[in-house]
Amino acid sequence: MKWIRARLPLTLVLLLSVSFLGTAFLIGHQVYMHDVDLTKEKLASEGQLISALLEQQTLEESIDVDIQSIVAIYNDEGVSERVIHPESHSDDNLPVLPSEFLAETNQGEYGNFLYTLDPIRGDRYLFVGTPVDEVRQRAEQLWWLLGLSLGATLIVIGMVASRVTRHYAKPVEAAASVAKELARGNYNARTYEQYQDEPGSVLSQSINTLARNLKQMVDSQEMQKDRLRTLIESMGSSLLLIDRKGYVNLMNRAYKDTFQADETRMLSRLYYEVLEHKKVIQLIEDIFMTEKSVRQQMRLSMAIERRHFEVYGTPIIGETEEWKGIVLVFHDITDLKKLENTRKDFVANVSHELKTPITSIRGFTETLLDGAGQDEQLREHFLSIILKESERLQSLVHDLLDLSRIEQDGFPLHLSDVDLVYIVKDTIESLSNKAGKKDIELIDEWSTESSVFIQADSLRMKQVIYNLINNAIAYTPDGGQVKVALQRKDNGAQIVVVDTGIGIHAKEVPRIFERFYRVDKDRSRNSGGTGLGLAIVKHLVEAHHGQIQVESEPDKGTTFTVWLPRKFT
Ligand code: ADP
Repeated sequence: MKWIRARLPLTLVLLLSVSFLGTAFLIGHQVYMHDVDLTKEKLASEGQLISALLEQQTLEESIDVDIQSIVAIYNDEGVSERVIHPESHSDDNLPVLPSEFLAETNQGEYGNFLYTLDPIRGDRYLFVGTPVDEVRQRAEQLWWLLGLSLGATLIVIGMVASRVTRHYAKPVEAAASVAKELARGNYNARTYEQYQDEPGSVLSQSINTLARNLKQMVDSQEMQKDRLRTLIESMGSSLLLIDRKGYVNLMNRAYKDTFQADETRMLSRLYYEVLEHKKVIQLIEDIFMTEKSVRQQMRLSMAIERRHFEVYGTPIIGETEEWKGIVLVFHDITDLKKLENTRKDFVANVSHELKTPITSIRGFTETLLDGAGQDEQLREHFLSIILKESERLQSLVHDLLDLSRIEQDGFPLHLSDVDLVYIVKDTIESLSNKAGKKDIELIDEWSTESSVFIQADSLRMKQVIYNLINNAIAYTPDGGQVKVALQRKDNGAQIVVVDTGIGIHAKEVPRIFERFYRVDKDRSRNSGGTGLGLAIVKHLVEAHHGQIQVESEPDKGTTFTVWLPRKFT
């Protein structure tokens, strides 16, 4: 920027010098020429004057005139005979004039002299001359004068110009350096703002306003970008953006997590090269072809599982109708699907569970009506079957109702301080008969404490313990053993029910808490189970903020461990 400051006055000085020199040369030359003319005129009139004087006098007489020129008498050979004025002047340095000059009155420059030559009496010539050097000297003096005044003027102009330039260039320089900073992306750069009437104030103010506006714009853009980025990154659904040429442009965190996608491998690559699901590729192709939004449910296999997605794909079309690409949103509906399936299964299961006893009751009733009722023994047998089936039906309906009540939000627990020792003892007592029938040894093995109090709904607690011990007896072959242990543990109580029964296969274990799930359908049904017992147990334990765990080995036995907190409200 500094060069602006130097260049401007330098150019000015240079231009001025050239024009000054030109003018000076012209003026000098003109003045010189004028001087020569004037001198010549003066010489001519002096010549005339002296000639006239000489008319009246003899040539030898001296003339008394007030002139500066050199006056001499020349003979007809062009040589000076006598110097009339100034008297002291010798004629040695007067020029010898060529003969062609001597014809008549003439004027000119010869040798070192400007002269007028007039013929006078007696073939003599009057020479009035002045050395050219004098005129030249005068011209030189003028040159010097002009040169000095030019130099002085140039110095003054140069100084003024550099001052003015500095004055005007400073704000320009400051503005330029701020502009440079702005271009570099530093929007905090500001220039010094001068007073209103100072030069460059408009520029400084405008630059500052520009900087402020730019900063504001960049800030708000940054903020919007941030917002958008946060929104895209933190949205629950997976998002994929494909540009109009088919290159993968963007993917959010949910997409990377769900599809285990490697961003560096996928970005800026063609979608059909990097997407592994054919259905998704097809969907993108459809959108490219039809330019319409598509919503489609699809099941996609992930690394270890299959998940259901509702995929919404839409073309992005700009304001001027130009294609910008496609955005795909993957909404994971696996849980919804699961829920839907559970509901379907549940309806099918309930219908099935209800159908069996109803069919049986109806069959036996019809047989009785058809005449089997005549035989008392048969009637008795059939009626007992009908009774058993209707009891099953009843307990099924009862369990179903109970489960649906427990599953409801806000299911009420009637909490009080409950002594688990008492409940376990009581339950064992009520089931000892059943155990006895199967010759199963029922052992209660609680620690030395005579009571273990927890905060619980005593009836529901009893239901939990009853179901667990009842199952242990039901799934343990005759002559087996069922142990119940109760301990204080981790600020709560732990109930362990161990049996030496048929056990559960490891892969079945996670499913036994599902409604209607049975490992062995016939055996379970024969044991009088509804398939809802463990579902109810799990819900009740969780309602008490407790935990239930199962360990089992087929043909060896099963251990159910329930932990309940001392207090949870
Ligand atoms: P059910 O009324 O059929 O007993 P549950 O919900 O109580 O239904 O139990 C679900 C299934 O879990 C049972 O059908 C049975 O196959 C298995 N099960 C439950 N408890 C035991 C146990 N102690 N030993 C072996 N299998 C068990």
